[in-house]
Amino acid sequence: MKAAFLTGHGGNEVVTVGECPLPPRAPGQVRVRLHAATLNRVDLYMRDSGAGITHTLPQIMGLDGAGVVDEADADEPLLTPGQRVLLHPGVACGRCEFCLRGDDVLCTRYQLLGEHRDGTFAQYVTVPARNALPLPEGWSFAEGAALGVNHLTAWRMLVTQARLKAWETVLVFGIGGGVSLAGLQIAKALGARVIVTSRDDTKLARALQLGADHAVHSATQDVAKAVQSLTGGRGVDVVFENVGEAVWPAAMKSLVRGGRLVTCGATSGDQPGADLRRLFIRQLQVIGSTLGTLSELHDLLGFCQQQGLRPVIEQTFPLDEVHAALSRLESGQQFGKIALAIDGSP
Ligand SMILES: [Zn+2]
Repeated sequence: MKAAFLTGHGGNEVVTVGECPLPPRAPGQVRVRLHAATLNRVDLYMRDSGAGITHTLPQIMGLDGAGVVDEADADEPLLTPGQRVLLHPGVACGRCEFCLRGDDVLCTRYQLLGEHRDGTFAQYVTVPARNALPLPEGWSFAEGAALGVNHLTAWRMLVTQARLKAWETVLVFGIGGGVSLAGLQIAKALGARVIVTSRDDTKLARALQLGADHAVHSATQDVAKAVQSLTGGRGVDVVFENVGEAVWPAAMKSLVRGGRLVTCGATSGDQPGADLRRLFIRQLQVIGSTLGTLSELHDLLGFCQQQGLRPVIEQTFPLDEVHAALSRLESGQQFGKIALAIDGSP
């Protein structure tokens, strides 16, 4: 089969498209013939460093994916060959204390596709059968792929961690990336009021079209002041962010008393000032979050179908052009997900 491998670390040269044997399937697993995958920031991290993530090279890249079931156990109760599925990228042990309490995303032996084991930039992948969920009717494979990482991450952040209410206001930093767009879509569908920030006028305009209530230009406006003015001097209930250091002071200053800041990333740096006095006097909560559980993905699928919510796909590249796709992601110019069409059938 054809796949995009990571053969080293540092720049696009270490990413090679080539042939390898079909992945073997163990009992309890399904082999999925992939039709699409989408790119995530962590693909760039794996390409450039991969530090702190146990992995063996060469390794197939890619976290999320969607396709059709190629092979399953004869007595598999829910999945049949030919069925359209999307994947949850986390393979949990099912036995540790976190798995037993239903928080499989905290599993001590967690393995993520494309990080700790072969991923989805390939014609086939094998995963435990429970990691393959039915693709909603009418969805493209690229839309399905995007749900498994970005939307799942945003869902856990807003619903499970921040417990967002319909009457609350959310501030989403850096609109345009996959997670922030998913945050905007989910928060609006939940009924909340959403303020977005970006340094790019075009992205702000598109976010307003997607339902954002207010747009703040973070290069020309003081975000915290703009937020105070938009909220009558009150501040927002929830800050949703994955930018880290560059926005942290503004994020903390934008929160209402008792507000919650939920973060899933630190692309601009991970050591901001803690602003502890503000934290305890105003009784703020800072909540970390990563990905989401199988149960949360199941809920998210139901939510998306009921609300008619679908991931935004910006551009699709063939698998052979994975370098161009990675460069596009790295540019930060995109609004929505960058997808890979595998076998030309996104
Ligand atoms: Zn576990």
